[in-house]
Amino acid sequence: MCKGSLVRLDGVDMNVSFWLKRIANVMERSLPNRCFLCQQPCTGGQGLCDVCLDDGEPGPLCLGCSRPLPAPVPWRCGTCLSKKRWRPLVCAYPYHHPLGYLAGAIKIHRRLSLLPPLCNALAQRIEALWQLGAIPRPGALLAVPMHKDKLPLRGFNHSVLIARALGRRLNIPVIEGRVIKQRMTLDQHGLSGTQRRQNLKGAFRVTEGPTLNNLALVDDVITTGTTFASLAATLRREGHSVSQYWALASALK
Ligand SMILES: [Zn+2]
Ligand SMILES: [Zn+2]
Repeated sequence: MCKGSLVRLDGVDMNVSFWLKRIANVMERSLPNRCFLCQQPCTGGQGLCDVCLDDGEPGPLCLGCSRPLPAPVPWRCGTCLSKKRWRPLVCAYPYHHPLGYLAGAIKIHRRLSLLPPLCNALAQRIEALWQLGAIPRPGALLAVPMHKDKLPLRGFNHSVLIARALGRRLNIPVIEGRVIKQRMTLDQHGLSGTQRRQNLKGAFRVTEGPTLNNLALVDDVITTGTTFASLAATLRREGHSVSQYWALASALK
């Protein structure tokens, strides 16, 4: 039996969510669906074709900044080793990569069809790193929260959509509603490191509930790492623990 709210129309009970899904499926099959990069037709509601995804595979990436590495081991570039960036950062692509900048298009241009291929690429990288023993399996995923007044303007929290897609694909629970963004902040774009830290000071709040351990924080793009660091610090102050950061793309220097 399909779940969802029932409405009565012309004397017939209609399951709204069931019919909305049916309409979405018909539209997806009938409307032209083309790759965001090469404009070739692609299937399954994906915004990228298999050729572009295969050609764009960047190989091993640093677990501190996501810059390409000539070989996986020792997992981090010289800069990250010297800066002691030990908490793993896993990204599907460097941001300045043909596929990496598309991670920003999900939020900015509302290209939700890019979610499945980019999340799938990140999930594949995470699974490969698990098999190699390079990163631990997190206990749960937690997306960077959005202020409640911003949600109606955008219509979705892109980080939550990414976390849910990864959670489904990797069979990891997604924690929702435990951390809130309690005040509006400036757009981080264009701010210096100090300004970014000041902008996020006291922005997040953890609500009452069980202790959260071994979390992976999830976002679309990591630019300077300030958002992840601020969220992790807020969680740590309340007795919770973060083991790693996941993002679709990294612009870390
Ligand atoms: Zn393509
Ligand atoms: Zn690095």
